[in-house]
Amino acid sequence: MEFKYLGKTGEKIPVIGMGTWKIGGGWYSTDYSKDREAVEALRLGLKLGMKFIDTAEGYGKGHAEELVGEAVKNEKDVFIATKVSPEHFKYEDVIKSCEASLKRLKVKQIDLYQLHWPNPNVPVEETMKAMEKLVEEGKIRYIGVSNFSVEEMKKAQEALSKYEIVSNQVEYSLLCRDVEKDVLPFCQKEKITLIAYRPLTRGKIFKFSKVFDDVCRKYNKTISQVALNWLIQKKQVVAIPKASKPEHVEDNIGAVGWKFRKEDIKMLEAMAEKYKQKNLASTLLKLPIF
Ligand code: NAP
Repeated sequence: MEFKYLGKTGEKIPVIGMGTWKIGGGWYSTDYSKDREAVEALRLGLKLGMKFIDTAEGYGKGHAEELVGEAVKNEKDVFIATKVSPEHFKYEDVIKSCEASLKRLKVKQIDLYQLHWPNPNVPVEETMKAMEKLVEEGKIRYIGVSNFSVEEMKKAQEALSKYEIVSNQVEYSLLCRDVEKDVLPFCQKEKITLIAYRPLTRGKIFKFSKVFDDVCRKYNKTISQVALNWLIQKKQVVAIPKASKPEHVEDNIGAVGWKFRKEDIKMLEAMAEKYKQKNLASTLLKLPIF
């Protein structure tokens, strides 16, 4: 595994972590039918070195966190990131949400606690006051945000009096590069980690793998390895693909340990751009966020 510093902290996290959206259900529903498969996939990923798991209180209505707790129970040094949902951004609700997440995860401390999306209806000062309290009480180690614009990140940082925002989790993949306009340069300048979610465009990238055939063949890598490696070569960027199938977990770990030549990065980006311009991707990119 390769590691990068988390924000300006001295903490190093794996460049490839594991996402958990759709593990244990959806947004409004819990599904217990694939628990074993989900836990086994996470355990396999941990064994292979992906000791960084991203989850959220909203995934599977909390059941994803329970499955993460099950997967990490005999493990050491796993970096656990979870998220508080925007409807819980009032002071007391943040505290309650965090305590409930700790119980479901069966851990004493959450490594990274993230605001899942901005919520304009609750002053960010109120939410951040609760986040700081949680750090002081040792219930969380670091504060992060998700789906925040540059302006929202600045406001969130101003609302914090003692700690810094260490990360912003946003959509970023070869087929969705919007963050390159402002969020990525800002994170790179301010040394804030950008956690790339949906790095495989929810698996849709595989439908169009022919577009990337040349690069895959040249490096003898799969499309997933190419797409993830392209992301983690960017300064401050780490990625959290979700995989429930063991062969997918094993495939994704192959994204580390090698590097593209500069000219091939350009070629890859040009191919992705051409493909987008043909509007082949336009419908794919209109996906709801979770
Ligand atoms: P993703 O990681 O881009 O894609 C996941 C899909 O790709 C799954 O269907 C998975 O299949 C498939 N897959 C994974 N590795 C593969 C491989 N090597 N070969 C072929 N298929 C492969 O999409 P995502 O799950 O939406 O995003 C990743 C994580 O980011 C989430 O799980 C979540 O933790 C986070 N996220 C956060 C937000 C936010 O608002 N903060 C929004 C979206 C996502 P199998 O599962 O069948 O293996």
